[in-house]
Amino acid sequence: MGETVIPLADLRYAAPVPAIPADLTAPNGLLADRLGRPLRDLRISVTDRCNFRCSYCMPKDVFDRDYVFLPQTSLLSFEEIARLARIFVAHGVQKIRLTGGEPLLRKGLEGLVEMLSELRTPDGAPLDLTLTTNGSVLARKAKALSAAGLKRVTVSLDALDDVVFRRMNDVDFPVADVLDGIAAAQSAGLGPIKVNMVVKRGTNDHEIVAMARHFRHSGIVLRFIEYMDVGGSNGWRMDEVLPSARVLDLLRAQWPMQALDASMTGETAERWRYADGAGEIGLISSVTQAFCRDCNRARLSTEGKLFMCLFATAGHDLRTLLRQGRSDAEISAALGQVWAGRDDRYSELRAAQPADRGAGQRRVEMHYIGG
Ligand code: SAM
Ligand code: SF4
Ligand code: SF4
Repeated sequence: MGETVIPLADLRYAAPVPAIPADLTAPNGLLADRLGRPLRDLRISVTDRCNFRCSYCMPKDVFDRDYVFLPQTSLLSFEEIARLARIFVAHGVQKIRLTGGEPLLRKGLEGLVEMLSELRTPDGAPLDLTLTTNGSVLARKAKALSAAGLKRVTVSLDALDDVVFRRMNDVDFPVADVLDGIAAAQSAGLGPIKVNMVVKRGTNDHEIVAMARHFRHSGIVLRFIEYMDVGGSNGWRMDEVLPSARVLDLLRAQWPMQALDASMTGETAERWRYADGAGEIGLISSVTQAFCRDCNRARLSTEGKLFMCLFATAGHDLRTLLRQGRSDAEISAALGQVWAGRDDRYSELRAAQPADRGAGQRRVEMHYIGG
């Protein structure tokens, strides 16, 4: 299709924040976007750096020695993040997920967790505060994170076989250390733990049953994620996507499975349980079964840009508002305007397009926006 290739360094994804209305009366807590969806879930990326180079996210040939990550001064400080989070919570956010890049590489992250754990929803409830990590340093940090007020963690793990795992993280990182991290999180009470496995056909689909067997009876929910066409550097191809329906077939060939109801609106995973009581799994079918209709998630990038969709091409610059010394009321009103104007539903639209549409387009990268 001859799409223009834009150098990654130029992709700072800036879209203006809509004008702040004069009366500054954002309808706190009553926000709905143009498709009637409330704002409930905020994902905050705390760093664009990572010690892994998963080919589906930060392929080595793009994210090499010469790749320029954001400078420290561009990052939102913990105080800035906590201030924005408070405003988001006033607008209806009930769940905050810290992500990245690898969030545990951000120095002193426990300090941010502590600040966020003090936030309360308008009806006085604590937040569902969680974090997604590659698990590489979790064994060292689980206790401190739990003490700081983190409720639970999601750990990404794409294979149990050490050779396959090292190949997928592409930095020769051993699977045993991630398993130690999961065990440490369990002992620290960071549960219920979820494990995310991105399934790439021909790369790790032969690990599906072994992963399922490993996590049966563990109390850990294993979730299989379809490889997504996020960003513009992973060379995504439809033929490398293994539809969740196939994953389910593989599991059903081993164990009787029963469908479960979604535990809450906006949940991304379709839930199934083993009929023998060995636990639960999730299927995240972002490619083959769009779930935009209930999407109540916003994403705050490392440098304070607000994205309304994982597949957005531009974000609204909240950092400028913060650093201009705008008041909470002004920022709140701007956020209200942005959400009220939201009509994103990329996956639904993609489903209606030819199979390879989307590959190579200019979109935000996953490590920057946070998964
Ligand atoms: N570094 C942390 C980690 O890997 O858990 C947090 C950030 S990572 C971007 C968040 C999640 O996005 C991970 O579970 C990862 O597997 C998932 N992810 C990244 N690229 C993906 C892709 N192309 N398709 C599906 N999931 C992807
Ligand atoms: Fe790093 Fe997570 Fe992306 Fe893998 S998926 S490269 S661990 S940010
Ligand atoms: Fe939400 Fe965008 Fe994903 Fe649809 S494609 S579920 S709107 S993040």
